Amino acid sequence: MDSTIYIDGSMGEGGGQILRSALALSSITGKAFVIDRIRAKRPRPGLLRQHFCGVQGAAAICDAKVEGLELGSTRLSYSPGKIKGGQYHLPIGSAGSTSLVLQTILLPLIVAKVEAEVWIEGGTHNPFSPPFEFLQKCYLPILKRMGADVELKMERAGFYPAGGGSIRCVIKLTGGLKSLDLCSRGALVDVTAQILACQLPLHVTSREKAQLLLDLNTSEDKVTIRDVGNDFGSGNIVYVNVEHEHVTEVFSVLGERGKSAEKVAKEAVDEAKDYLKFKGAVGEHLADQLLLPMALAGGGSFTCTKLSSHFLTNIEVIKMFLDVQVHVSENTESGCHLVTVFF
Ligand code: ATP
Repeated sequence: MDSTIYIDGSMGEGGGQILRSALALSSITGKAFVIDRIRAKRPRPGLLRQHFCGVQGAAAICDAKVEGLELGSTRLSYSPGKIKGGQYHLPIGSAGSTSLVLQTILLPLIVAKVEAEVWIEGGTHNPFSPPFEFLQKCYLPILKRMGADVELKMERAGFYPAGGGSIRCVIKLTGGLKSLDLCSRGALVDVTAQILACQLPLHVTSREKAQLLLDLNTSEDKVTIRDVGNDFGSGNIVYVNVEHEHVTEVFSVLGERGKSAEKVAKEAVDEAKDYLKFKGAVGEHLADQLLLPMALAGGGSFTCTKLSSHFLTNIEVIKMFLDVQVHVSENTESGCHLVTVFF
């Protein structure tokens, strides 16, 4: 009997995460899949360079057989082999997100308990994707608590749309992932802000800093400016990092032409303040990204402030490959959701 899993890429969120989660889960479980209507709900459906490179990366780490791998393709079949360690170089060839390509193959390499080094070239700071510092300060520390031993370095920043960035990730041999309960943030430790800029006039970052100092009502030493110059193009991002005892959340807003420096800073602070109003440990983005590691670890739980359609769609994809249950309950008193992943 043909046990290939069929995925409708237009379901729920209908974006690239459906494909990335399927690639990771297929590589780990050995279950082949076919996906069609890839990214049907996006303005430019089908495989863009970032997704194309994610498929290439996943196929490379497990010698998968792939059909339909072409730019713009809306249908793909993927039949995985055995995951192996080694060195992998994945040039996206555009400003596509290096974080999202890394997330496609990181969990398979961790769960397969192999040693690997992954070098990815593309964008490090993109709209609608985890920026590099989110992976570094928020996502990876949690994977480390779950047992992963991963070192991540940004060799060169690359802002969308110019790109030209480079990240390198070393995955060390460990015992795989273990479950985690992240139901409480713990006490507030610190709130800091960071401004990254590339080829920008000084007044932009000074105005962002002034706005951050005002809105966060904080001292000079809590707001840093880092020039991450490269030759590819200009760029800017503002981070507000909210550190609690058990979790650090990272809120970011990219600078854009036509958007004032003050507005960029204000939006980042507003996101952080929104999170601080509630008690959930995890914000909206981390919530959808934690489901996969928890399911692969055999279980876990967390509280979160918001549920997104990425979150709900990711649950559906995970259930296609793993016999897992995800229970979501709402605690109206604390204004947060309790998410439990179990088998
Ligand atoms: P597309 O849908 O165009 O294919 P995509 O491939 O970028 O886009 P999505 O399916 O939209 O994929 O998934 C984007 C991922 O990036 C989600 O996991 C989401 O939580 C995460 N993300 C988006 N913005 C941020 C942010 N500011 N910080 C952290 N993570 C983010």
